[in-house]
Amino acid sequence: MVADAADQGVRRLRMVEEQLAGRGLRDEDVLAAMRSVPRDLFVPGSAEVDAYADTPLPIGLGQTISQPYMVALMTSLLKVDVRSRVLEVGSGSGYQTAVLAEVAGEVFAIERLAPLAERARATLARLGYPNVRLAIGDGARGWHEQAPFSGILVAAAADEVPPELLGQLADGGRLVVPVGRGRHEQVLTIVERVGEAFHESHDTRCRFVPLVRDASPDERRKAAMRGSSAAEDWSPPGGEDARGDSAYPGEVAGMKSVDVRVSGAVQGVYYRASARREGALRGLRGWVRNQSDGSVALRLQGDAGAVDSMLDWCRVGPPSARVSRLTVADAPADETLHDFEVR
Ligand code: SAH
Repeated sequence: MVADAADQGVRRLRMVEEQLAGRGLRDEDVLAAMRSVPRDLFVPGSAEVDAYADTPLPIGLGQTISQPYMVALMTSLLKVDVRSRVLEVGSGSGYQTAVLAEVAGEVFAIERLAPLAERARATLARLGYPNVRLAIGDGARGWHEQAPFSGILVAAAADEVPPELLGQLADGGRLVVPVGRGRHEQVLTIVERVGEAFHESHDTRCRFVPLVRDASPDERRKAAMRGSSAAEDWSPPGGEDARGDSAYPGEVAGMKSVDVRVSGAVQGVYYRASARREGALRGLRGWVRNQSDGSVALRLQGDAGAVDSMLDWCRVGPPSARVSRLTVADAPADETLHDFEVR
């Protein structure tokens, strides 16, 4: 199905009528924003899929662009207006970011997967939103330097309301976050700050990808002192923001070099060839090779954010792989590496 801009515009208006107004959403500012932001520009391959379908859609790296109704509902629950400063955690494709930028004064967005953040920045820049700043990092810690916020929207499911975010809410501000374990038990939770009190209420049940907590620099230092290279031992991406002029709180942008071991059904499933392509896509240096015990070993070296996003890929691998365990250990930088190869 190939759709031109006019077709997409027609679908967008129909989406607003059927999926949003049709479900009782009455917030006129939010409906207007949803009428104006072209979701198709945020959906990869939207010439082939219906970007205005009533469903989340894949955006790569195991993440999804949210269902339009969920984007509109969460925006409306925030109750923000042009005077508001808003924090968005988990900007993914940047679609929700754009919708927020239509209704709020300033939007501070954080995404932990660098390739998604880069793509979102490019799309947002193309559409022209001067009131958006997008940083790469762990948004569960909030954005201390820019706090307080009159609205905080979290687009990934947390086990509990993240305490750091409560501390960054302005008086009268609202936090909207899916809370719950597992994919089926999440509830859209709203916390309103009144002075030093926090009032919690609940909306619909929902289903989001998990909010992933990265280790703080302090926690990483402690782990390094213990010599830990345990499974699921990962580090946060180096920070930067859309203008590249100030580092994301607490993070140092930089290079990183790690040794990775992946176990499970990982040989004979194109793990190496896929890893080579994924590594090259991220501009990484290093190699991937099969080990005689059935595991796959990788050396990843490059921009810290790119290494972290490659680790996310390694945990899943190509479609027929089944990863049961992944270990990561810091490795010395190897100056002789110039590209990413299969060994
Ligand atoms: N509203 C977005 C939803 C993206 S899915 C959209 O419509 O495109 C949720 C996103 O949260 C994913 O991209 C995931 O990488 C990101 N995420 C998960 N944990 C995070 C964290 N701690 N900090 C920042 N982003 C996080």
